[in-house]
Amino acid sequence: MAAEAGSALGLSVAVLAESPADAACAVASEVLLGSPLVEDDMRALADRVDVVTFDHEQVDLAIIRSLLDDGVVIRPGLQTLQMAVDKAHMRAALVKAGIPVPAHTTVEGGPEPHGAAGGPAAEAIARFVEEYGWPVVLKTARGGYDGKGVWPVNDMAEAAAVLGPLRGTVLVETMVPFDAELAVMVARRPSGDMVTWPATETAQVDGVCREVLVPGRLPPDVVARARVLGRHVAEIADAVGVLAVELFWSDGVLMVNEMAARPHNSGHWTIEGAVTSQFENHLRAVLDLPLGSTAPQHAQVANVNIFGGPEGMDPVALLPRGLAVEGAHVHLYGKETRPGRKLGHVTVCGDDAEEVRELAWAAALSLGTPRTGGLRLPRALEHQSGTA
Ligand code: ADP
Repeated sequence: MAAEAGSALGLSVAVLAESPADAACAVASEVLLGSPLVEDDMRALADRVDVVTFDHEQVDLAIIRSLLDDGVVIRPGLQTLQMAVDKAHMRAALVKAGIPVPAHTTVEGGPEPHGAAGGPAAEAIARFVEEYGWPVVLKTARGGYDGKGVWPVNDMAEAAAVLGPLRGTVLVETMVPFDAELAVMVARRPSGDMVTWPATETAQVDGVCREVLVPGRLPPDVVARARVLGRHVAEIADAVGVLAVELFWSDGVLMVNEMAARPHNSGHWTIEGAVTSQFENHLRAVLDLPLGSTAPQHAQVANVNIFGGPEGMDPVALLPRGLAVEGAHVHLYGKETRPGRKLGHVTVCGDDAEEVRELAWAAALSLGTPRTGGLRLPRALEHQSGTA
């Protein structure tokens, strides 16, 4: 999607892809095959471009440091990437700056020397639970995404079972009884000049984003506070490019759960819903070009993700049905279908919150996304089947 935005501006986007089947290869100006975790591959990419940027955080900070030392322009830089790749580091930096985050502590993964009840991790969890109670959420500091690496646990035996096979730092945090989850997208230039888009309400099921609503149920004052918080986080992280800040809204308090230093699922709505998309502003920001307006083009926007269903239907085969839904902007990523794999999204813009949500879900179900427990679907669609 960044390559498409770049093409409109006459920019060439080269991608470092692990496989020619990676979705970005179909639209990039140039494809280099390799891994961001291999220094030679990163250097080959750096030789071809003016600026290196990212669309995920599976990067090796030592390689980034070595390239920066040699004068390669990498945006965002080390300070931002350190926070983006390591949730424990991110939380510590936010706490230091006085930003509200869920109560948490850290332990090391691995089997405990004395079984579930003994050992330093169990002791630290016991102390934490004495203050905050069960359940708690365990999260790997590095490598998690889309709910992978996040486990709610109800007692010490469950915690030990999760921690046993893990290695490295694990966050232990309170299960926040949030009223809503929000995300705010920020685009920031190297000078510190920045813009924010209106905050969105996001809905996750099993840790995976299913829908993004703008503004959703969020009152204007919460949207405004979220945007201020987003700017603050971008400053602390010294972000360049687009930064997604994920928030919990709980009992009138906004707290930061997560950040991603790249275009993000919660900003896909900006392609049709805002004057400038997150992808275009990401490119503008990392190239130090003037940022575009983030004003919404519509009062209401709904964005629903498309996942592979258990029947393995390819959404491309269902395209005529999805496109028959009035006003549905369908984006399919060209990925091979697998149950639970995110394959695309649908955006619908309009004036009525219920209507845009209903149309976006109607199109997504028509394209084969499975229905989900844990999220109330628009009433009119409660009985529509996913793929029939
Ligand atoms: P990632 O996006 O890296 O998978 P997150 O920290 O964003 O990890 O967790 C994924 C989802 O799990 C969140 O969007 C939220 O729905 C839920 N979650 C994570 N941490 C907590 C928490 N402390 N309390 C309640 N829900 C949580």
